[in-house]
Amino acid sequence: MIPVRGVEGQRLAVLGLGRSGLSAARALRAGGAEVLAWDDNETARAAAEAEGFQPVDLTRAGAFEDVAALIVSPGIPHLYPAPNRVIAAAWAAGVPVDNDIGLFFRSFATPDWDRLEATPKVIAVTGSNGKSTTSALIHHVLESAGRPSQLAGNIGRGVLDIDPPGEGAAVVLELSSYQTDLARALTPDIAVFTNLSPDHLDRHGGRGGYFAAKRRLFAEGGPDRAIIGVDEPEGMFLANQLAEGAADDRVIRISSGQKLSGPGWLVFARKGFLSEWRKGRQVASIDLRAIAGLPGAHNHQNACAAYAAARCLGIGPKQIEEALGSFAGLPHRSQLVAEAEGVRFVNDSKATNAASAAMALAAFPEIRWICGGLEKEGGLGPLLPYLGHVAKAYVIGREAAGFALHLKDIPHEVCTTMEAAVARAADEAKPGEVVLLAPAAASFDQYDSFERRGEDFIARVRARIGG
Ligand code: ADP
Repeated sequence: MIPVRGVEGQRLAVLGLGRSGLSAARALRAGGAEVLAWDDNETARAAAEAEGFQPVDLTRAGAFEDVAALIVSPGIPHLYPAPNRVIAAAWAAGVPVDNDIGLFFRSFATPDWDRLEATPKVIAVTGSNGKSTTSALIHHVLESAGRPSQLAGNIGRGVLDIDPPGEGAAVVLELSSYQTDLARALTPDIAVFTNLSPDHLDRHGGRGGYFAAKRRLFAEGGPDRAIIGVDEPEGMFLANQLAEGAADDRVIRISSGQKLSGPGWLVFARKGFLSEWRKGRQVASIDLRAIAGLPGAHNHQNACAAYAAARCLGIGPKQIEEALGSFAGLPHRSQLVAEAEGVRFVNDSKATNAASAAMALAAFPEIRWICGGLEKEGGLGPLLPYLGHVAKAYVIGREAAGFALHLKDIPHEVCTTMEAAVARAADEAKPGEVVLLAPAAASFDQYDSFERRGEDFIARVRARIGG
């Protein structure tokens, strides 16, 4: 655990007692603070009480008297669509609002770092899609190269839960837009921006607000190195704004699909090959085509980002190449679940928006596509160029018939349940085809989470084909 610094003897309020909230509460207590913990949900309050935190109702009048700061969990809206009332009360009382990421950055460096030869480095990854894969891949490359590394943030481990890092260690953080929007300190050594596509727009008041939240990681005077996906205008803008000039190698531009050129530091993937260029010369090239854990152009973008981060930390191209080759991939992201009679079953339940599902569709040429669920704003536009890869769609979700209307002349069948969709797709699939779960929608109409949805797919596939 990283005890929070500078809070001794102070009262701090914590709103939201899920994973990150509880971890913040513990780290604040370890830093000597008095913690006022609250969650609207009784079960969450009980979990906090079991750890010795006395719940204090932050919704009552005067709750913020003598409170030094309010620490908020990422699931709680602070501005859009409407501020949570506890947050609004903190504002009204003039109490600073922060989150566990802000606490982490202000508590991470300690005076005994003076004794270290190589101080710990923080690599923070943000973007609309590919954050988890890129973060996990960076962590994997570092570990494979024998560097101590810890992975935390949005990916499942609270940032304050990590062990204080020592000599030459790295901390890889996956940060969502909710997390970067609120944190009062954001000072990674290396920051990665993968890409931008519309998502969570309700929480950010539109695409501009969403980009602004992610951009905070790159605030002027920010990271030593900025690794930026330049396949969208926002990435181009950000890279341009951060670089002093075309040759400034504080900024590393990455792309999947474009051949980048210029005197700067460039890493791009084309036709399955990753290339690194620096000062107008090619430095390295890696064949990504046979790496089972990184299928498709989207994963090649993730490979470029991870490669660039590892290069910034002084790891050589050969070592990175070996590590990329042994990456197993993450569950629910282009995860090969089974293969039977020439048909592959791939679980990409994490494709919760159209842009990420489009990438999954692009990665395979002949697809039996299981899609549908709780629709996101923005429609299915990004998918349209890849619908030619779809032999037939099998639509799930409570509103499956409505979702199917977007598919227009693509052959499709309204299946509603995962069980029916897997059964129909497995029956009809021909050798060489892929039965792909890439819903392009959230899961909450039928499941607690995208993980449960992916597990259901896996269970149905196994039940169907055995194994
Ligand atoms: P995040 O953590 O940003 O949600 P993940 O790595 O969990 O990203 O991947 C989420 C979804 O996006 C998956 O469906 C995956 O196939 C797809 N995806 C992964 N990397 C990219 C990328 N670089 N660009 C677009 N989509 C991607």
